Amino acid sequence: AVTAAPVLAITGLRKAFGALVATDDVTLDVRPGELHALIGPNGAGKSTLITQICGELAADAGRIRFDGRDITTLPAHARARLGLGRSFQLTQLCPDFSALENVLLSIEARHGGSFDMLSNPRRNGANRQAARDWLDRVGLADREDRRVATLGHGERRQLEIAVALARQPRLLLLDEPMAGMGPEESAALTRLLGSLKRHYAILLVEHDMDAVFALADRVSVLVYGRIIFTGTVDAVRDHPDVRAAYLGE
Ligand code: ADP
Ligand code: MG
Repeated sequence: AVTAAPVLAITGLRKAFGALVATDDVTLDVRPGELHALIGPNGAGKSTLITQICGELAADAGRIRFDGRDITTLPAHARARLGLGRSFQLTQLCPDFSALENVLLSIEARHGGSFDMLSNPRRNGANRQAARDWLDRVGLADREDRRVATLGHGERRQLEIAVALARQPRLLLLDEPMAGMGPEESAALTRLLGSLKRHYAILLVEHDMDAVFALADRVSVLVYGRIIFTGTVDAVRDHPDVRAAYLGE
């Protein structure tokens, strides 16, 4: 079978904080259109790995390739420009601006714009429809004029996804997007991610196993910084080490 080249390919990645090895010889790839879930207990190193992928934290060892290109030593902003989109556990929204303005800023940032564009009616108008389309895509069409500070928790997370998508990423990195959500919000976000996958490569860190099992094409399990298993949802559910180490059985 022909397998498309991975969007993201990590090999032997490591990060230590003093004596604590947070990520240890991590090898993982994400293929085009794949939703790859990363699960593991608290402190396993999931957020450290995401932070290393987006470049805010340097690797002690290992390589990261993105779209076939070695990005191991590139700074975070250069990785973002290449299409690495990060969301969550990092608040990137402007609370005093409307939902629409936040997406507009993201579109403008893609073109090297700045806050000035909000007072420039011509450029503003040119991207307004695109921003509306992103809001519609994430289910916030009726919230465009609402200030971020007045949005609900789940709505902010939907907006963060719209902001990330407006940068037209090749890979979306999501770190526990469902944390703090009630069942209805989680179900809505699960539906949204289901509608996005296949159009995007997504690496999803998530504790909500219902969401992971519903969405993931493959699951990797990280325990004490090491990937102990990568496989399909069915395989990961049945794996004895995974049940013992993670599902608490
Ligand atoms: P997870 O996201 O899987 O819960 P983290 O990546 O946040 O795990 O943390 C992995 C381990 O690294 C934990 O033991 C955590 O305390 C430690 N750690 C994370 N960031 C730092 C840091 N900046 N300095 C020191 N230790 C850290
Ligand atoms: Mg974390």
